[in-house]
Amino acid sequence: MIYDLRGVAHLYRGRAGAVRALDEVTLRVSRGERVALLGPSGAGKSTLLRLLNATLRPTRGALSFEGRDLSALGSGELRAVRRRIGTIFQHPSLVPSLTALQNALCGRLGSWSLLRSLRALVVPAREDVRAALAALEPVGLSGKAAARADELSGGQQQRVAIARVLVQDPEVVLADEPFASLDPGLTVQLADLLFAVTERRTLVAAMHDVDLALQRFQRVVGVRGGRVVFDVPAAEVSPELLQQLYAREARRAG
Ligand code: ADP
Repeated sequence: MIYDLRGVAHLYRGRAGAVRALDEVTLRVSRGERVALLGPSGAGKSTLLRLLNATLRPTRGALSFEGRDLSALGSGELRAVRRRIGTIFQHPSLVPSLTALQNALCGRLGSWSLLRSLRALVVPAREDVRAALAALEPVGLSGKAAARADELSGGQQQRVAIARVLVQDPEVVLADEPFASLDPGLTVQLADLLFAVTERRTLVAAMHDVDLALQRFQRVVGVRGGRVVFDVPAAEVSPELLQQLYAREARRAG
């Protein structure tokens, strides 16, 4: 078991009051599982991913990672947990003035001190360069290692973000609508790439494209209004379930 969430709630507290983004979420994810999160905008998918990568803590309930309750961990242990979890965001957030290779190298930063990080980016050790080059290869960017990130296309930048996660070599890969800002043609290509390079890892991804989620994932978790409304094998996701999941949005749009 990688994740075990029991009765998890998360409240954002702001000046305008509290927003209950998640409530009563109970979810288990086993090692090697591929799970798609579906749901309308504002459902709580990103918040759930931020709890899973230990950026946020539950306001209520318990969240354990590999059998350890995250709320019981000190900051050093929490950092060690975060290194085992790689996240890919909708926008790749590369450093524009650094090369593809240097950006991929940033996947190692979580395990280094600030001094070592700075030195590694200026004068990288041969083994680190080898690791970064090895990660650029499966994403099809070997020929672009020396190109600056801001000279790359959106699809290429997202490939560098995938390479950065490969350099990090995490146990779990989380993805938050990773292809939502790309051309539809590129989406399928990059989804297949992400699947191939994370083959033996646990993958939890909030997906924008329902068809793609149903085709590629084993398990689909529907989230709406901060709650898990279904958790079924992809083959059991019916048009009725999807209609209920997105119903509120359809009504608003109509
Ligand atoms: P999704 O990823 O499914 O679109 P989110 O997890 O981003 O949903 O948001 C869930 C709810 O929490 C929404 O009502 C959203 O407005 C709110 N929310 C998200 N982030 C914050 C924040 N930093 N502060 C306050 N409210 C937030």
